[in-house]
Amino acid sequence: MSTLGERGSCAPTPCGSISCRDVENLLDLTLDDLTRELNRAQEAPYRARQIFHWTYVQRVPRFDAMANLPTSLRESLSSRFEILRPEVRAYVRSADGTQKWALGLADGLAIETVLIPDGTRRTLCLSSQVGCAFGCVFCSTATMKWRRNLSPGEIVAQLLTVLEGPGRDAAAGLNLVFMGMGEPTANLEAVGRAIRILTDRSGLGFSPRRITVSTVGVPAGIAALARWGVGLAISLNAVRDDLRTRLMPVNKTHSLADVLVAAKRFGESSKGRLTFEYVLLGGLNDGEDEARLLAGMGRDANARVNVIPFNPPAGGAEPLAPGLRRPTDVEVDRFAAVLAREGATVMVRRSRGADIGAACGQLAVRLPEPATRGAAA
Ligand code: SAH
Repeated sequence: MSTLGERGSCAPTPCGSISCRDVENLLDLTLDDLTRELNRAQEAPYRARQIFHWTYVQRVPRFDAMANLPTSLRESLSSRFEILRPEVRAYVRSADGTQKWALGLADGLAIETVLIPDGTRRTLCLSSQVGCAFGCVFCSTATMKWRRNLSPGEIVAQLLTVLEGPGRDAAAGLNLVFMGMGEPTANLEAVGRAIRILTDRSGLGFSPRRITVSTVGVPAGIAALARWGVGLAISLNAVRDDLRTRLMPVNKTHSLADVLVAAKRFGESSKGRLTFEYVLLGGLNDGEDEARLLAGMGRDANARVNVIPFNPPAGGAEPLAPGLRRPTDVEVDRFAAVLAREGATVMVRRSRGADIGAACGQLAVRLPEPATRGAAA
């Protein structure tokens, strides 16, 4: 057998020490990528499926545990790849059962991942970037600014960290939403690869219908997502351009009308479910006329409307814009009632995990980097 490429070799540096090997994260590879790599080394395609099974179903951390692979292949894989999991820097569990992980990445940066129980189901909120560049004024992640994109493997590894032990069953009743840190359409290549890995039947085999990608509303990204069969959530958050631009600077580039056209096209061309998200800000975007306009947009695009009462930043941190207020329950109910009366399919996303800073829009890593505090349970 030939070995897996050139990249696994160590080279002496001018000062005599051995330089770091250029080892790749296996979790970055789709099944096609891995099959191609193995093919180059004259290995059969079924080996790639076996490796996927070991990695994503058995969830072993090392190649030497992949018992049905020949020793030579295991050695060759170990010299070329690693199965890179993040370091759990902190783990917290909310009174309502919501769990949040702060995960340290190889370069010392950190992200957050949130698991929200919901009856017999659970929703895992995945991050797609470290920080975010979009500057939505109500969102805590925006205060971190953008640090970098996550790789496909760093996205997938969030799930592997959350699933304890081997077995496909651990993923039963689990929905995946790209609603953690970052803007998925700004890291579309990696998000697309991560989705291919997560849906691969040789591994976890998630149905695309159990995956939802949330976006600030970038038409090109929405068009790409329509081809993948996943659900789409668009953060509208306002029904007029002037207010939307104040809340979400992206609206200067992609106006509400552009976003609604893209949404309608998505509805016409994709099997994925369409949702409009609307962060409800007390006294700002919660008027009756706004509810009526929003209901009309939902009906037009055949989208359900998800109302998310604003979650202020956790721990008393400053939001990007002063004066934002969480609406009262009465205001939320009134707004939702108008939507329902106007024929919208409406859901109110009551905050989960607000006591641990894990509710929508509260994700912002403030841990020292790199740190070793509060290991996970
Ligand atoms: N960048 C993507 C995904 C991350 S945000 C997007 O914008 O859609 C996921 C959802 O949380 C979005 O609908 C966003 O509008 C909402 N959100 C952000 N900050 C919030 C906050 N402070 N309170 C409530 N919802 C918030």
